[in-house]
Amino acid sequence: MQTENTGKPILWIVIPCYNEEEVLPVTAPLFLDRINTLTANGKISDKSKILFVNDGSKDKTWEIIQKLSKENPHFIGMSQSRNRGHQNAVLAGLMEARDVCDITISIDCDGQDDITAMDKMVDEYLDGAEVVYGVRSSRTTDTFFKRFTAESFYKLLNSMGAEVVYNHADYRLISSRVLNEFASFHEVNIYLRGMVPLVGFKSSKVYYERHERMAGESHYPLSKMLHLAFDGITSLSVKPISIITTFGMFVSAVGFIGIIWAIIVSVLSLGAPGWASLICIICFLGGIQLISIGVIGTYVGKIYMESKHRPRYIISERTWQPYERHYKG
Ligand code: UDP
Ligand code: MG
Repeated sequence: MQTENTGKPILWIVIPCYNEEEVLPVTAPLFLDRINTLTANGKISDKSKILFVNDGSKDKTWEIIQKLSKENPHFIGMSQSRNRGHQNAVLAGLMEARDVCDITISIDCDGQDDITAMDKMVDEYLDGAEVVYGVRSSRTTDTFFKRFTAESFYKLLNSMGAEVVYNHADYRLISSRVLNEFASFHEVNIYLRGMVPLVGFKSSKVYYERHERMAGESHYPLSKMLHLAFDGITSLSVKPISIITTFGMFVSAVGFIGIIWAIIVSVLSLGAPGWASLICIICFLGGIQLISIGVIGTYVGKIYMESKHRPRYIISERTWQPYERHYKG
């Protein structure tokens, strides 16, 4: 466990924000309150920070972050040069924090995740855990549809061989030690909740209730959720390829039996050639082939993106001076 001179860990809370002008003024004081409480309880250093990562917002989010950073030294902000998505925003914040703090907690800025659970996360860290996953104890505030799709998604991911913590999203504590190891994972297709368990180290879980958004609207409609699900599976597992191979062998076997049947029918002249069944088989095989090419193409596409070695985030502005990066005692 790394600590600064006073012996208390420096905590950086990393918060991605995209078009959150409505909710930020509501939740920012709650995050500050948490830092103050944890500091008053002697659990963290008063050098702890709340880092807002503006993900190329088109509204007044960045202006609000700049204003907050002038009002209180605990608030700092940085801005991505454009919208890159939630995962990249969190990664940018974590990579920024890793060599100036001892622990990070990533959390969404909409107040859905119980902010007070941070106290338990810090306790777990002080007890020796390097990664603490925030796990939703129930999903009663989500609609039945969101709950059903999300739970099916976790089950699907695990059945595909990707290790993800059930009902855990991106609310978690990670120590700087783990982040320094994580920094050597260079992939650009990032799916944090599947990648963090791969780093290893001692981990634990903290359960919390998930609330409604405090203001504003979700940025994850069904289409984006499906995209995230497909992205998660293809970033973490190559099992779909082996499933296709198995399925392809099965379809070929059935096709082989079909051919024997067709030969017997024609040799014995038992009837008119089965035009309908022929068309059905052609359509069926055509569909299977297209799906297979699509899935394989997705992997090829990912290899293509990885081979470019593009930066995973680009920071255009910060509300603090970079020399502060080296202040860790
Ligand atoms: N977010 C982001 N970039 C995006 C979309 C979302 O940084 O392109 C942030 C957003 O500001 C919020 C978090 O990611 O802090 C989760 O988004 P949201 O609450 O809309 O998703 P939900 O909780 O509904 O799944
Ligand atoms: Mg949310």
